[in-house]
Amino acid sequence: MQVTRELFDEVMVPNYNPASMVPVKGEGSRVWDQEGKEYIDFAGGIAVNVLGHCHPELVKVLKEQGEQLWHLSNVYTNEPAIRLAKKLNDATFSERVYFANSGAEVNEAALKLARRYALEHFSPSKDKIIAFTQGFHGRTFFTVTVGGQAAYSDGFGPKPGAVEHCAYNDLAAFAELINDDTCAVMMEPLQGEGGIITPDPDFVKGVKALCEKHNALLIFDEVQSGVGRTGHLYAYMGLDVIPDILTTAKSLGGGIPIGAMLTTAKIAASLKPGTHGSTYGGNPLACAIAEKTLDIINDQAILDGVKSKEALFREHLERINAKYHIFSEIRGKGMLLGCAMNEKYQGRARDFMMAATEQGLMCLVAGMNVVRFAPSLVIPDADIVEGLKRFEAGIAHVVANDKLAETV
Ligand SMILES: *Cc1c(COP(=O)(O)O)cnc(C)c1O
Repeated sequence: MQVTRELFDEVMVPNYNPASMVPVKGEGSRVWDQEGKEYIDFAGGIAVNVLGHCHPELVKVLKEQGEQLWHLSNVYTNEPAIRLAKKLNDATFSERVYFANSGAEVNEAALKLARRYALEHFSPSKDKIIAFTQGFHGRTFFTVTVGGQAAYSDGFGPKPGAVEHCAYNDLAAFAELINDDTCAVMMEPLQGEGGIITPDPDFVKGVKALCEKHNALLIFDEVQSGVGRTGHLYAYMGLDVIPDILTTAKSLGGGIPIGAMLTTAKIAASLKPGTHGSTYGGNPLACAIAEKTLDIINDQAILDGVKSKEALFREHLERINAKYHIFSEIRGKGMLLGCAMNEKYQGRARDFMMAATEQGLMCLVAGMNVVRFAPSLVIPDADIVEGLKRFEAGIAHVVANDKLAETV
């Protein structure tokens, strides 16, 4: 069979619009397409490939576990799942873990748990959920409704109710909205999809204090910010605010689908046998690979490396911007960085991303105005420098084309 990008359009539901090249192989932070053209990967599978492609230690675990046991369902437990849960609890505030296969699923579990907990400990009227505009929490109907972008949740009929939104970093507006009927507040401690928006530390502390005052559970969605991405194992550790529930996915599996919801024993008790579940969640294959990923990332040298790699990115991006004047700001933290377009280039992030791909660099956008980088946390410094050289070549191309268009 001749497998081409054109065939994609004939066989797939058109909800995605992938790039014109088709990758066939990856190694570390490099990827090759069907034509053998090489790319440097700053996209990281959207903040997933935390150790790059085909990391030898993950491949080893994949092969070993693959020859031992893949799947059982939750009628039985398994050793990798128990070990991974123990390690997550040891490394964080958490005491109990629930596994699923994706970020949306663990957020769904967190929201359902918060509603159950409020019902058991307070009253049926304590059902209100507050989340933030520009937030993103997944694509199930509940999570997409809680996410703060109506464009993603409109057009599918009646939405789950009792969900309200507040501007991110606006503590006064939040204080107006929260009350004793609020059962949970869901927030990203660094907004990813919404445009790489860093919270004001006092805002996060204020949200936590108001949640405590009104007995609302604070849910941190660390699906994108977790597992070392910000230079802390979880972003909450750099904010000095402990959530009641934390969700983690993306990087957790190093490329294998897995999600985990972390919480305290007291809150977890509200998900009694039969109240929630997943057929694949916590399967031994995914858990064994996630366990190895966590073992490697939960290491001070790796986390310190994230901070120095961020500095390297920023130094080069500032230099590029001094030359081309494209960005209003370089934002984000660790290996989750956003280049925000300035006035002149509003709405053009995708043009720069596509020009970069052309030059052999894979990167992402976050909305119309931010080019996003979410590479491996162990990307070699030389690949960062080479990747940014390609990014600069893409920028030069766009700018030159714009000039040409102005003159004709
Ligand atoms: C990607 C993302 C999700 C959704 O995760 P999926 O694995 O795609 O379901 C949820 N929350 C945040 C913050 C994300 O970045």
